[in-house]
Amino acid sequence: MTKTNETTYPYQQDYLVEGETGMLAFGAELARRLPEKEGCVITLQGDLGAGKTTLVRGLLQSLGHKSVVKSPTYTLVEPYHLNSRDIYHFDLYRLGEPDELEYIGFRDYFSSTSVCLLEWPEKGESYVPPADIQLIISIFNASRKINLKSRLPININKL
Ligand code: ADP
Ligand code: MG
Repeated sequence: MTKTNETTYPYQQDYLVEGETGMLAFGAELARRLPEKEGCVITLQGDLGAGKTTLVRGLLQSLGHKSVVKSPTYTLVEPYHLNSRDIYHFDLYRLGEPDELEYIGFRDYFSSTSVCLLEWPEKGESYVPPADIQLIISIFNASRKINLKSRLPININKL
């Protein structure tokens, strides 16, 4: 019998990202490679301080967001509308129970055109749909290592 709750990804790559500037650049490069018309789900895993929010900030700013990027730790989600796209930034760190996601209408954020970025996706358990792009960030000396797994070919070569 095959286990089906683990998504397997045809594309995978590791990146070494140096400093906050490097992380912002990585987010910006990722923004340029998002599917143009389709929605997508991007999960960001890694310890506190790994750089998840920094990467999201780079992505949002490259799409034209000018003001600060608030960490949605208490609100769970922060909505953006950029380049005529709905983008939702989630941080599920403070979620008590996955069931709480029912009350915020979690499911409705995932449409065929929205881009959903999720920090701490593991806290949402089965409520979180399978990621199109999965990013696992680990602290590596003074830098960060990013393991990117993707359903679509995404190659970030210029940082
Ligand atoms: P998280 O959202 O994962 O908790 P943050 O994005 O808030 O983490 O970043 C935590 C700290 O790590 C910030 O001070 C940020 O500048 C720093 N940082 C982010 N990316 C890198 C990197 N590639 N190399 C070194 N420091 C980084
Ligand atoms: Mg964060």
